[in-house]
Amino acid sequence: MNIPQKYIGRFAPSPSGPLHFGSLVAALASYLDARAHGGAWLMRIEDVDEARCKSEYADDILRTLTAFGLNWDGVVMVQSQRKTAYEQALARLSKVSLTYACTCSRKEIADSALGIEGPIYPGTCRTLAMANKNNAIRVLTNDELIRFTDRAQGQGRGEISQRIESDIGDFVIKRRDGLFAYQLAVVVDDAAQGVTHVVRGADLLDSTARQIYLQQLLGFIMPQYLHVPTVTNDAGQKLSKQTLAPGIGAADAVTVIEAALRFLGQASTGANASVAGMLAAAVKNWQVSAIPGVRASAIA
Ligand SMILES: [Zn+2]
Repeated sequence: MNIPQKYIGRFAPSPSGPLHFGSLVAALASYLDARAHGGAWLMRIEDVDEARCKSEYADDILRTLTAFGLNWDGVVMVQSQRKTAYEQALARLSKVSLTYACTCSRKEIADSALGIEGPIYPGTCRTLAMANKNNAIRVLTNDELIRFTDRAQGQGRGEISQRIESDIGDFVIKRRDGLFAYQLAVVVDDAAQGVTHVVRGADLLDSTARQIYLQQLLGFIMPQYLHVPTVTNDAGQKLSKQTLAPGIGAADAVTVIEAALRFLGQASTGANASVAGMLAAAVKNWQVSAIPGVRASAIA
């Protein structure tokens, strides 16, 4: 693999609960990949969905990361403070007629054919030219194939591709309640932070094509993507606040990091006593090719 001249990675937790093992795995993977490339590792709080996020969780997550020795570079970017940037991106898309207002309720869309992520929006409001105010805003999509090779999930396991119009439909970039959608915020922020490498959980694998599409429309550079397997509980559910994943504490840092390394298919760092020593060894040993695959053929 070519080692890029400049590597900027990031971890972007959503503060809807305390840091749990699943998010620690994603944090560790992005940290190790950045440091193994001699790159920067930036931090971003993804609290764009203000109804679900709390600033005390953000503080708690940052404290826990620090206690785990995962020290980021530069200042923390916070999505709830970035609305002007999102508004500007939306305005750029609207100016070239790539957006439209949608008044459809969830119920009205529910009967549509099922796509990758629920009902495919059938484009009902595309040509109605309604006012943006107090309505959801969608981005116009097309059926061109969006392809990318995931650094862990793609190579040798098939390229990943999607046709957004038929797989998803025109998607919401600003919600009816005035909040910007994650898909737009993440693309604008990755570009603003100059991110070259995105390393994150595979629950976002299906979002990647939409993000690449928005990058293309906005003229942003596409980062390289690496998705690590999602951690599930005994019932097979993704760890999250909704599935009551337990928070992790600094007292168990050595055990938790060792478990996270094992989950990522990485070599054990042995019985290193200190967290700093473990992380240094893990950076040295970091092997992307050892990361397990996830449902590799599901969306090919
Ligand atoms: Zn509509």
